[in-house]
Amino acid sequence: MAIKSRANTWKNWAGNQECSPARIERPSSEAELTAVVKQAAADGLRVKVVGAGHSFTDIALTDGVLVDLSEYGRVLSVDATAKTVTVEAGITLLRLNDEVAARGLGLENLGDIAYQSIAGATATATHGTGAKFRNISSRIVGMRIVTGDGSVIECTPEENADILRVARVGVGALGVVSTVTLECVPAFNLHAIEEPMRVDELLDDIDGYVDGNDHFEFFWVPHTKWALTKRNRRTDEPGQPRGRWQSFRDDYVLSNVAFGAMCRVGRRRPGLIPRLAKIIPSTGRTEYIERSDKVFASPRLVHFYEMEYAVPREALPEALNRVRDLVDRMGVNISFPVEVRFVQGDDIPLSTASGRETGYIAVHVYRGTPYDQYFQGVERIMNDYEGRPHWGKMHFQRAETLAPRYPEWDAFQDVRNRLDPERRFTNLYVERVLGP
Ligand SMILES: Cc1cc2nc3c(=O)[nH]c(=O)nc-3n(C[C@H](O)[C@H](O)[C@H](O)COP(=O)(O)OP(=O)(O)OC[C@H]3O[C@@H](n4cnc5c(N)ncnc54)[C@H](O)[C@@H]3O)c2cc1C
Repeated sequence: MAIKSRANTWKNWAGNQECSPARIERPSSEAELTAVVKQAAADGLRVKVVGAGHSFTDIALTDGVLVDLSEYGRVLSVDATAKTVTVEAGITLLRLNDEVAARGLGLENLGDIAYQSIAGATATATHGTGAKFRNISSRIVGMRIVTGDGSVIECTPEENADILRVARVGVGALGVVSTVTLECVPAFNLHAIEEPMRVDELLDDIDGYVDGNDHFEFFWVPHTKWALTKRNRRTDEPGQPRGRWQSFRDDYVLSNVAFGAMCRVGRRRPGLIPRLAKIIPSTGRTEYIERSDKVFASPRLVHFYEMEYAVPREALPEALNRVRDLVDRMGVNISFPVEVRFVQGDDIPLSTASGRETGYIAVHVYRGTPYDQYFQGVERIMNDYEGRPHWGKMHFQRAETLAPRYPEWDAFQDVRNRLDPERRFTNLYVERVLGP
């Protein structure tokens, strides 16, 4: 998925991050993986693993050894009774979804896409939506981690449980995750209803929508009073999929081709954006039942840059209204809808939902569009709510500003000092957000 343009350069999906590592390694077994780390240590080089390159920040960049796990992504075992699956860290969510579905299982909750690797997605606390459900990392019940000297630590609820608790969201700073064991649920379908609503009416009864649906999210369309809503209910009812033409129209033509064309016009002639935006809410209502992962995640072909903030759930309506106000006042036209989601709090020290019921606000701009004024304005708003930025999405925070927003910051740093005292796994991003 990530673009590798020349033999020794690497670029992320969004195309805004690039590095030239000393070398790129593609191990296909744990033995090869440990050998890569040992050799890097012997050569005095830093190590960074890359998943699918779907982070927008410089989180996966290195001038040392870049470890590409695209050839290390098999299912190792499935425990049908415990409903757990153990996989090599490079497996993509797309493949993992198919593998567990073939065994009558599913992942409890997912984000918008499934191109990421399991280790990359969980390293940054990747999440979907649903106030009764947590992020993907919270379903990890076991990990094997290669530390800075090339040794492997097994983490389970019985062995090294303190490391497991922290490493579920490791921001790539604790070592190379070799395998992940995930708790699954019996396979389920989702009954999806997608329709536009007036954003003010939605916010007036936000708790009703969030608590009254298993998975609720919406996209406010800047320069309009409209939001596109998605309500998903978990069900065992048989699938009633959209026709092939309808899913092609919704997921490909409307969400990608037509939207991409609108963004390109908007980038050339920003003055047209408010008029173009009015077309988006006229897409009508869609209702269908499909396999859960096919509803949670869909194709994303339009490339963009994104920032996303986690705020306490109760602060979300006010924070969103301030973002709406900012867009109105800023004098810059924004072509991408603002995405709003909700998840349950968890107990992972560096999860963006750590210790609190959480609402997420995500802002985007089309690739190649200036974003500083917009993103910095949104970040200033989020600072007033102890906002925590998504580790894989753009932001301007530093360790000093982030530490007070995570009550268990020191627990993370303790494990980091134990697993990587030499900082074999650091890079500029990790130093900026976690300290040297
Ligand atoms: C189009 C798009 C849609 C998105 N939708 C969502 C969404 O709905 N919800 C959400 O929360 N996020 C979303 N994201 C963000 C994305 O899920 C995260 O940035 C995620 O971390 C990307 O996973 P990746 O496999 O590409 O990892 P990368 O970006 O390649 O790496 C991320 C981090 O993980 C580390 N890492 C990877 N593998 C390992 C390993 N084996 N051991 C140790 N560290 C490792 C890397 O070193 C790096 O620090 C989206 C991103 C894009 C581009």
